[in-house]
Amino acid sequence: MDSVKALAQKMVKFQLASRGIYDSKVLDAMLKVPRHLFIPGKNLSKNLADCYADTPLSIGHGQTISQPYMVAYMTELLELRGHEKILEIGTGSGYQTAVLAELCRKVITIERIKDLSGRAQKVLDDLNYKNIIFIVADGTSGYEREALYDAILVTAAAPSVPVMLKKQLADNGKLIIPVGDISTYQELYVIKREGNTFSTQKSIGCRFVPLIGKNGYKY
Ligand code: SAM
Repeated sequence: MDSVKALAQKMVKFQLASRGIYDSKVLDAMLKVPRHLFIPGKNLSKNLADCYADTPLSIGHGQTISQPYMVAYMTELLELRGHEKILEIGTGSGYQTAVLAELCRKVITIERIKDLSGRAQKVLDDLNYKNIIFIVADGTSGYEREALYDAILVTAAAPSVPVMLKKQLADNGKLIIPVGDISTYQELYVIKREGNTFSTQKSIGCRFVPLIGKNGYKY
């Protein structure tokens, strides 16, 4: 049976590097963060390999931890250099939060389901992360109190881009958000702010759970 280290190494080599993830800092963070600790009920030794598989997995409450490739891809798009303050919308398991926290100065992460936020906080506290603030709220209006952000990462699918999120981006900041039909698939939007100009690039197709709230899906 593979050790956790061997499973993480295989994940990085075969799911990430071989598919074009090239930023060594992102690959190192994906190697370091112990993905199995973020997956409830799957962290027993007999299920360990599942935790590092090429797929999203259930974390309860009808929500998922994202596929490793998607976590790495979205993180790489942010082109982090270490000084950034990031807003993450959709804490979920806290796994993406940990990868971000490895690569930036501070992460503010918002989750609408209290139980998930609490669980993520426990795992991340146990791993000794000190640069994360956890908020339980509807994140579709962002989080004004800590704005502006060098980057905003939304890990649930929106029907359209919430204007409030664009407003909370710092100059030269980037917003990554899946946008589109929840019953089929979405596209990952990469929105860059330069002064008061916003440019939007559509990246890869993806499938996420819905972003539910005032400026998201309504159910
Ligand atoms: N990045 C997460 C991880 O690594 O586990 C996966 C996030 S999961 C795909 C999306 C999360 O967004 C869910 O936990 C869901 O409850 C949350 N969510 C949906 N709508 C939200 C909203 N309006 N505000 C905050 N969180 C929301």
